[in-house]
Amino acid sequence: MASLDPVARPIDPELHAITAWLQRPGSNHFLVTSHVNPDGDGLASMLACGRILRRLGKQVWLVTDGFRSPRYDYLPQIDTVVSYREGLEAELPVANVITVDVPTLSRLERVARLIPRDAAILKIDHHPSDDHFGQFNYGDTAASSTAELVYRLCVDLDVPFDAALGTWLYTGIAFDTGRFRFSSTTPDALIIAGEMVRAGANPQLIAEQLFYEYRPTTLSLLASTLQSLERVLDGRVSILSLDHAVLGQARYGDEDMDGFVDYAVSLQGVEVALFLREHEPGHIRVSLRAKHDFDVRAVAELFGGGGHRKAAGVRMTGTLAEAKARLVNEIQRHLESSNERSA
Ligand code: AMP
Ligand code: MN
Ligand code: MN
Repeated sequence: MASLDPVARPIDPELHAITAWLQRPGSNHFLVTSHVNPDGDGLASMLACGRILRRLGKQVWLVTDGFRSPRYDYLPQIDTVVSYREGLEAELPVANVITVDVPTLSRLERVARLIPRDAAILKIDHHPSDDHFGQFNYGDTAASSTAELVYRLCVDLDVPFDAALGTWLYTGIAFDTGRFRFSSTTPDALIIAGEMVRAGANPQLIAEQLFYEYRPTTLSLLASTLQSLERVLDGRVSILSLDHAVLGQARYGDEDMDGFVDYAVSLQGVEVALFLREHEPGHIRVSLRAKHDFDVRAVAELFGGGGHRKAAGVRMTGTLAEAKARLVNEIQRHLESSNERSA
């Protein structure tokens, strides 16, 4: 059978400088981390970076802050990812850091405490960001996922692809393209995913574990969430919300709400979808999604959040009603100004 063409790209001097730095002898201790509440792309990219570094003879600590969904438990070696705990800084001799899927250092939350002032940082990320906080910054907003950038590192360093590396990188791409659905589903993303399947990744198992394994409590929470559906601005905006009276119940965890925002954005006629969770009284986490060209990141940034054009997040304080009103107000302003531009 003919094999797939490898992803052709010109020699990338930036990437070579990075791989030279990774390969230099001596400096052996690496911290690898991703944003707080790491997702499929962040965790998979961390694990793949761990593989690269260990092959280069480095000592590696994989650390994240916040909630890690059990849906990622199928990832090979997931147990090597440590959760931040107080006092960890005294235990880790960190000289070098790789951040994956992290646009700004504030997104590390408490893991930032593990990074000494003089540590060398390599930033690998596909979020749009002007914050080049690393000594090395490897970014490409056209990449489907950070996993795709880590793939390029593996190719440059001749790291062989096996089932574990294949599972990680396939997971990162499948997760960040919304299972090959979003506009980030580029030819490169599909070709690399194909290569990873050839290396031993199991697409059926990964899809089931990542997206189709619900706990019974998840479906009951989904029922409550769908009951909350509101449509505003002539149906151009849909809103799902859960207040603390529901969310505070012990049987519900963060993992029960993953992906619910997709129902809000799937509604016909919707351009912008919001999912608000009052996880503590007066403290609200918001997921924003856009269907077409609307830039939800711009709205999230107005309130101190961030993300991508079509998928962003922000934390807000106040009541659910206040947060909704503030968001809808801004979305309306943005919709009106884009109407004017296209008029
Ligand atoms: P989520 O809605 O949590 O799936 O997040 C969608 C996107 O927005 C991801 O790229 C996140 O990294 C980003 N994001 C989520 N919450 C925040 C936040 N509070 N601040 C900045 N970026 C965020
Ligand atoms: Mn991410
Ligand atoms: Mn990502």
